[in-house]
Amino acid sequence: MDKRIYNFSAGPAVLPTEVLERARDELLSFRGTGMSVMEFSHRSRHFAGVLDAAEHGIRELLAVPEHYKILFLQGGASMQFSMVPMNFLPPDKTADYIVTGTWGQKAVREAQRCGDVRVVYSTEAEGYRSVPERADLDLSPDAQYVHYTSNETIEGVEFNYDLDAPGLAVVCDASSNILSKRIDVGKYALIYAGAQKNLGPSGVTVVVIHEDMLARAPKGQHSTLDYRLIAENRSMFNTPNTWGIYLISLVCDWLREQGGTKAVELRNREKAAMLYHAIDSSDGFYVGHAKRPARSTMNITFRLSEPSLDERFYTEAARAGFDGLAGHRSVGGIRASIYNAFPLDGVVELTAFMKDFAARNG
Ligand code: PMP
Repeated sequence: MDKRIYNFSAGPAVLPTEVLERARDELLSFRGTGMSVMEFSHRSRHFAGVLDAAEHGIRELLAVPEHYKILFLQGGASMQFSMVPMNFLPPDKTADYIVTGTWGQKAVREAQRCGDVRVVYSTEAEGYRSVPERADLDLSPDAQYVHYTSNETIEGVEFNYDLDAPGLAVVCDASSNILSKRIDVGKYALIYAGAQKNLGPSGVTVVVIHEDMLARAPKGQHSTLDYRLIAENRSMFNTPNTWGIYLISLVCDWLREQGGTKAVELRNREKAAMLYHAIDSSDGFYVGHAKRPARSTMNITFRLSEPSLDERFYTEAARAGFDGLAGHRSVGGIRASIYNAFPLDGVVELTAFMKDFAARNG
């Protein structure tokens, strides 16, 4: 099959076609080396250039200040659920967790293995449909850090502000909205993101960490789980995911060509608004999951008011050339993930399909 379809997968997710084409063109011989990126040493000068490009790309696009390090790790965002408390939550101390969805809850479970976890806010009882206002949060002044998930991929709820907690180390899982909009990195001690939604392929995790936070990491940590050691070795304490880092560098180039984070943010808002409009103007045929102020621009979650139509919706959607629309197995319904690389045309076509489907089945 030659034609690329509209891929609404939540992750691994659609990558820009231009990025895949460039990777294809460079696959057998990377920039005159006669070798693929996958075939040369991570200690070679060829890879040094790739690592530089990925790091500088993220630093520039996310406006990361100088006193932060950018790390490329493995183990997925899930390993960060463990690594954060292993490094920053001693057994006799407390960390605050804000839980607005499934991933935040998983992060809590791992942190509880290390120390005392205080869930300062949870929307579990309402089925994870909203995020707190800053004023609703009563954070512990003695917390080692406060952790939250800026976009909950499964439920489609997103914070529309950077958590501001002066004096506290803010740790953020930004796996599913990193580089989708401008953020104020200066408010965070540590941001982490699995790459497989907005940055590149699975198997590489980006960590942006403040140098003061790095200095807090204890001595004696297992080496591959030690932020400080990894930072001292520029993400090359052991062999990094060289291919993944290379693709991140290409995605950064592509993002720059799109006009950077600001331009992409506007386009993401436009795409999300079209889908939410399709839901809201359906006379209740489609029902959105997230409450309005918390609606995600990346993962649009909704269900059909008549659940017996779900199957027909997926089948006809697949026939119309849309893939990956089934909601996560824990919540059901529909989830349209429209990360940076998802084209506007695909959103236009899905909204037309939704309208037509509602007219025929309402
Ligand atoms: N956090 C969020 C917000 C996610 O969406 C995901 C994956 N979908 C994870 C963490 C876990 O990522 P990984 O599978 O890379 O461990």
